[in-house]
Amino acid sequence: DLATPDSIVAAAEEASRLGESHPLVPPYEDLQSYRDGGGYELLTSCRSGARSITGVIDLLADSGLRGLGGAGFPAGQKWRLVAQQPKPRLLAVNADEGEPGTFKDRYYLERWPHRFLEGMLIAACAVEAERLFIYLRDEYPAVQAILERELAALQEAGLLQGVTVELRRGAGAYICGEESAMLESIEGRRGYPRHKPPYPSQVGLFGRPTLTHNVETLYWVREIVERGADWFSSQGRNGRKGLRSFSVSGRVKEPGMKLAPAGITLRELIDEYCGGMSEGHSLKGYLPGGASGGILPAHLDNIPLDFGTLEEFGCFIGSAAVVVLSDQDDLKQAALNLMRFFEDESCGQCTPCRVGTEKAVKLMRAPEWDIPLLSELAETMRDASICGLGQAAPNPLLSILRYFPQDLERP
Ligand code: SF4
Repeated sequence: DLATPDSIVAAAEEASRLGESHPLVPPYEDLQSYRDGGGYELLTSCRSGARSITGVIDLLADSGLRGLGGAGFPAGQKWRLVAQQPKPRLLAVNADEGEPGTFKDRYYLERWPHRFLEGMLIAACAVEAERLFIYLRDEYPAVQAILERELAALQEAGLLQGVTVELRRGAGAYICGEESAMLESIEGRRGYPRHKPPYPSQVGLFGRPTLTHNVETLYWVREIVERGADWFSSQGRNGRKGLRSFSVSGRVKEPGMKLAPAGITLRELIDEYCGGMSEGHSLKGYLPGGASGGILPAHLDNIPLDFGTLEEFGCFIGSAAVVVLSDQDDLKQAALNLMRFFEDESCGQCTPCRVGTEKAVKLMRAPEWDIPLLSELAETMRDASICGLGQAAPNPLLSILRYFPQDLERP
């Protein structure tokens, strides 16, 4: 009885009938049901030594599992790097899903929270971390309620032995999804991204080596270990490996979370997973990776969507938030909207981003774009910003210049 749109609506109506004011919690797999299906057996065997934790790390490395928050760093390699650092080591989970258009972590957490929690505890076992933090997007009150409830159940069941897990609420800042800004925020400071190196695997939370992971990366751990590295790596398409959780929105008949092979093309994704384009709309372009991943034109609907495949086109997949745009959308306005988002969300720490996004918005509001000036500004932001926000903020603007010059003719 997992969450479906109908069951959520029914639960909402029931909550309202009862006059309940607590956040709506959709039906999900609780601890008992998860254990009935063999849940936490893998964790128990890793902790007892019945299963070699080094073997688990090797298996993850062989599977090709990558950081699914957007960076795509190989997960097994990250575990090894952190495990080599001096103790004590910590673990921080990034559940601050703030990239516009991305909702995959919420999808998993509202249905199968223990798959993620077991993955997190296995990761902690692998790097021998005793203090664990989950940094949760505050706009997900139902997930907060679920995690609070299920962490208490885990404690009661004795499955949190040797570790403490702290659930920390974010406060709505997009930049706190950047891993080093998240660490600052967990430490109680303003979420300013840190200069790297050193990387969090060396100097992370409270100055200690820290394993940082996105929710979905940990969600896959149990399944990959149980089904084998080959099962996961053989799922890809067009020469790519693994599965990707695409958050699809925009002009398609059936938007939503689509679990599909890595390397699938947009055309295949729309036709096979989304029921085609919405009635009366024809594809004009798409955002392959949320606000920061740039905008690709319709004629590039046949390129594999994965880490490292879109960079030559000036884009990237990031958290796989695909927003489909049609002939009825004004892409010049869409790019301006995205730049306004970055202006709002810039943390203000460095000048190229703080001032650059503001100037770019002003220039993009003009009826005619000053293309040489905007191009120079974009280059400066890319080259000189401290973190990914400022470096990626010009992507939609550059996409318009490269692929949609006809839209610049619009008033
Ligand atoms: Fe802050 Fe932007 Fe600089 Fe990143 S690039 S540190 S978000 S001002």
